[in-house]
Amino acid sequence: MIVAIDGPAGAGKSTISRMLADRCGCTYLDTGAMYRTVTLLAMEQGIAASAYDELGMLSRNLEIGFQPGPGGVPRVFAGCREVTEEIRTQEVTRGVSEVSAHAGVRTAMVEKQRLCAASGNVVVDGRDIGTVVFPAAEVKIFLTASVAERARRRRLELEGKGVTVSQDKMEEEIAARDDYDSSREVAPLRAADDAIILDTTDMNIDQVVERVAEIVDGAD
Ligand code: C5P
Repeated sequence: MIVAIDGPAGAGKSTISRMLADRCGCTYLDTGAMYRTVTLLAMEQGIAASAYDELGMLSRNLEIGFQPGPGGVPRVFAGCREVTEEIRTQEVTRGVSEVSAHAGVRTAMVEKQRLCAASGNVVVDGRDIGTVVFPAAEVKIFLTASVAERARRRRLELEGKGVTVSQDKMEEEIAARDDYDSSREVAPLRAADDAIILDTTDMNIDQVVERVAEIVDGAD
């Protein structure tokens, strides 16, 4: 079974997907981590976000891997190098939307995502999972929440890592990333027509996991 969890930044996709995968005994695939890894390597190699061909080549050649990590958070590898922490910096977050808007980058990543999910039961989170990557997924959920709530969650997450960002700044960044991801030509962020839309603004994590697990059980 494939469970596709899409939605905008900060909607809780990765936390919910991780917990759901754990509960259902599925593998969790974080596709955002893949686009973040391409972005990190491009930055390090001095490849501009506008360098279409180089970004496509980098994406095709990238050997990306996941391993179980502490607290269920997957460790992310580019070849044998671990990049789990580096792909979460503000710098990568600010650059990732532009890089992931390129068709060449997306084609390479989608191919890898389909390979990763080729066998077994998988919970996959991203922006285009239910629309493009797995249009026939058995379960499609579109998680969302207000910009203010999503910014608050991201701000707290960053504070936990010792990074202080104001609520206003965070809202601005989240809204800009939503805009970019939703308005790009290739695989824009949108709910699949057959996705169940879940607004989590007033829900806590346990409530969301319960609701999503109910939806998955109902699809079995
Ligand atoms: O989910 P996360 O915030 O880590 O995703 C980072 C960025 O990667 C998104 O803002 C989006 O630009 C891109 N992304 C994408 N398609 C996906 C997953 C992520 O374009 N399936």
